Order: sequence, then structure tokens, then C-alpha cells
Amino acid sequence: MDQRGSLWQPVAFDLATRRWVPRESPGAVPVPELEGALVCDESSLQWAAEDFGHVVHRRPRAVLRPGGVADVAAIVAFAGETGLGVAARGAGHSTYGQAQTAGGIVIDMAGLDLVSDVRADRVTAQAGALWGEVLDATLARGCTPAVLTDYLDISVGGTLTVGGVGGTSHCYGFQVDSVEELRVITGTGQLVTCSPERNRRLFDAVRAGLGQCGIIISATVSVIPAPARARRYRLRYRDLATFLADQRQLVMQGRFDFLQSQTLLAAPGVWRYLLEAATYYTPPVVPADAALLNGLGYDRTDEEIDDISYREFAHRMAPGETALRASGEWLYPHPWITVFLPSGATAALVSEILTGLTAAELGNSGLALLYPVRADRLRAPLTRVPDSELVWLFALLRTASADDPAGAAAMIEANRVVRDRVLARGGLTYPTTTLPMSPADWRTHFGPHWRQLLIAKEEFDPHGILAPGYGIVNTLLQNSTDRCGAQRTHTV
Ligand SMILES: Cc1cc2nc3c(=O)[nH]c(=O)nc-3n(C[C@H](O)[C@H](O)[C@H](O)COP(=O)(O)OP(=O)(O)OC[C@H]3O[C@@H](n4cnc5c(N)ncnc54)[C@H](O)[C@@H]3O)c2cc1C
Repeated sequence: MDQRGSLWQPVAFDLATRRWVPRESPGAVPVPELEGALVCDESSLQWAAEDFGHVVHRRPRAVLRPGGVADVAAIVAFAGETGLGVAARGAGHSTYGQAQTAGGIVIDMAGLDLVSDVRADRVTAQAGALWGEVLDATLARGCTPAVLTDYLDISVGGTLTVGGVGGTSHCYGFQVDSVEELRVITGTGQLVTCSPERNRRLFDAVRAGLGQCGIIISATVSVIPAPARARRYRLRYRDLATFLADQRQLVMQGRFDFLQSQTLLAAPGVWRYLLEAATYYTPPVVPADAALLNGLGYDRTDEEIDDISYREFAHRMAPGETALRASGEWLYPHPWITVFLPSGATAALVSEILTGLTAAELGNSGLALLYPVRADRLRAPLTRVPDSELVWLFALLRTASADDPAGAAAMIEANRVVRDRVLARGGLTYPTTTLPMSPADWRTHFGPHWRQLLIAKEEFDPHGILAPGYGIVNTLLQNSTDRCGAQRTHTV
């Protein structure tokens, strides 16, 4: 069977020719014995070169479907020996190839999805578990993760490497801030448990560390009692200043459990604002609408209040996904940008950006989010937000047309323009953003934490093989000459 055949599995790698070779070939590094399988069939390689963004396609050399944790460790060690890049892939919802590797090995984490040990105050989940699965397991025991992403079909490992922001982040921080312990395979193939008390340097380098220092195997995350219901308030504003002021007030007072808002294009050049808030509760206690809405400046003729189960609320994106799958748009390119703005610059920046934004630049099913998070709730050192008491998440979730690469490219260029404006006013990007990042961009992004990341990378991924999809590896290990893992030096 040739290397593209469906049954073919590589057995050894030749360092000189950088090709798979028969096991007995002189100088070849044997592929370790695995419980699962390392595969090279065409459909696996194509699958691994695709993501939700549908913009970047980097074809790996092989895909590991691990049979257990030991397989991940063995393949990472093999990659270190051979200098092959390794990208863990959770649910593949990146938008710019962050879970891809050209010519390396993609590890499909989906099979490592066990959610176990649900207690009143914590749950342990393998990294390939989806947040929806974590939620189901915890709800069955009357509790819930404090922070859930808007969409629940993304993996624990995938969000913990970037942060994981949601509508309760103003209160609990990002998902990384609820992590109590991680089990991680470092870049040398070692399985290490880390927490605030144990192997702290690794713990701090992995949370929101873009996968540079380790592959997350499992995470123990604190949970809180689950409410039965969510009372949801949709409040509409005509005026950006009032919309921002009300959100600021609500977050500083902690009046609602959940807050997440949008800007809506009502007509060309005319923006309206939708504040979406929710209070969680368990009957017989019921929320007092009047007190919750007191003093807010929204359009009183246009308020919507409804009441749904907490689980349904957590899955509120599901109907939208079904509709977008039916229309085909779920599979269109998604050049998304998410930034964090400092409070003082938010009104002016958002206003400037929205003034020039057309419906076509957002795309048919595009969406713009704008809501605040209290920075004092964010504790993971590699989480990057502006230096401001409140930071505003501003996201342009664009959808390009299918079969229109030029349209998608124009959206990415528009992202660059937005990013440059935001950086010039002290904002920062969320690393899920669909944008090419140069070495200088990453250095700017990590700012004072760049050096910490460099030191951690050198310690935990000395071969520079992990998470090449961000383009940080080359940056961190610029002076590397030995692709097979000899001592490297880096520039700071
Ligand atoms: C519809 C939709 C809604 C979203 N909503 C939110 C939201 O509300 N809040 C938010 O913060 N983000 C949101 N995101 C962004 C999302 O959180 C990130 O893109 C996330 O990284 C995707 O997770 P994934 O499991 O699909 O990861 P993948 O795309 O598979 O991987 C993402 C990155 O994580 C790395 N990675 C994956 N697993 C591991 C692991 N076990 N160990 C180490 N590294 C790993 C990959 O190598 C890659 O670099 C959303 C994305 C989509 C498409």
C-alpha cells in the first residue's frame, strides 16, 4: 500500500530525507508501538488541514488517533527526536490554522474525552471532551462550570490554551481562571501534573499559553452549584454611549449573572445595540425584573424577557448552528477577529470601526459582540488584556461567501486594519483571531510576558515542536539549526 492508501501506517522516519521509510532502513527513527494508530490516509490528512475558518490549509505528515495518554507521550517524544511539529487538535474550531501543522503530526484529541470525578466543587475532564459533555456530566450532579463559552462543541484543551471567555467572565474570569490542576505532556513526552502548588511554572505556561509548552491531557476545573433556570433580558439601545454606560454599571454592580451584548446593523450606516443579560435562579426564588432593570437607559418599548432552563440557555447557540448548517453557511470561511479594548478608548474605537463597517464586510450571518469583563477577575499570567479596570471584548464574527477566496482575503485584510487601530489605542487581540502574525506581532502581543514564555518554551519544549500553527515556534527558536533536537538558542 502506498503512503496515501487507507491501510498504510508509517513505521519509521528517515532524518536525512525526511520521509517515512521501512523500519529496517539505516538511520531511521522507528515509530513507537501504539495502542491507537498513526495514519497517513488522504482523508485523515485533509481533515487535519481544515478548520472552522476554512482559510488556512496545512497538510500534516500523519495524524495520531491515540489509544490512550501513553500514545500522546510516545508520539511527542518521537517528534522531538525527529524534529516533526506536533499540533493537538480538539474540535477543530480554530479559524486560522492554529491546530494545524505543515508536514508534522496532528494529534486528534477527540478520543480522550472522559469526564470523570464530578464532585460538588470540581470536575476532571480529559482535554478532548467538549464543554457540552462537561456540562452534561456536571448538571447530572447539580453543578456547572462557572464559565461556559457561547458554543459548547469546542474542547476543554482548545479553550484552555487560549483562555475561554463567556458571558459570566465579568464575574469569574476566563475558563483558565477556574482551572485547579492540569495533566500535561510536555515537549519531551513527559506526563506532568501541575497546579498552583505543583510545577507552578508549567501551570502558568500552559493556561492561555497557546499550546507552546505542553499538550493538555486533562483539566480539573472548579464548579459551582447549577441554577435550574435562566431569566433572559434582551434590551435594545439606539445610543452607543448609554449602551456602554449601562453595561459598565451592571458589571461593576454584579447585577446579572450573565452579560453579553451585540451591535446590530439596522440599515446602512445605522447601528443599534442589544444588551443581553440573564439572571440564574432556582424556584421558588424568582428574579425581580423591576429591580434588575431599574435605572437602565434602554428603549422601554422594546424589551424582551423570557425564561428558559439553564441547560437550554447554555446551549442557546444550537438553533443558530442548525440553521447555518442547513443554509450551508456553517461551512463557509470565517475570518473572525476578537480584540480586548481598554475602557477609556472603547467608545471612540468602536464608533470609528462601526462607522466604516458594511453588512458585506460582516457577511450574511456575521455578528458583532461588545461586552465588558472585569480585569481583576483574570489571573492566568499569559492571558493578555489591556491595562484597564474593565476590558471590552469586541468581536467581528465575519462570514465570507463560499468559493470566494478574494472576499475572505479582503476580510482578513480588514481584520488587520482593525487590529492595527486597536493596538495603537492600547488594545490587544484574542489569539483565536484570523490574522497572520509576524514574530514582531507575537512579541507585542505577549509584551512583558514574552520573556516568561521564551524561558518556559525552552524548558518545556526544548525541541520547539509544539503548536506550530500559531507561528510562535519559529519566533521563539529563531536561531535553531538542528531540526533533530540538539541544544537550541533563541533570541529575545
Ligand atoms: C462557533 C464558535 C464559538 C466560539 N465561542 C467562543 C467563546 O464563547 N469563547 C471563547 O473564548 N472562544 C470561543 N470560540 C473560539 C474557540 O474557543 C477557540 O477557537 C478554541 O481554541 C477552539 O477550540 P477547539 O476545541 O475547536 O480547538 P482546536 O481548533 O482543535 O484547537 C485550538 C488550539 O488549541 C490547541 N489545542 C487543542 N487541544 C489541545 C490540547 N489538548 N492541548 C494543547 N493544545 C491544544 C490546538 O493545537 C490549537 O492551537 C468559538 C469558536 C467558534 C467556532
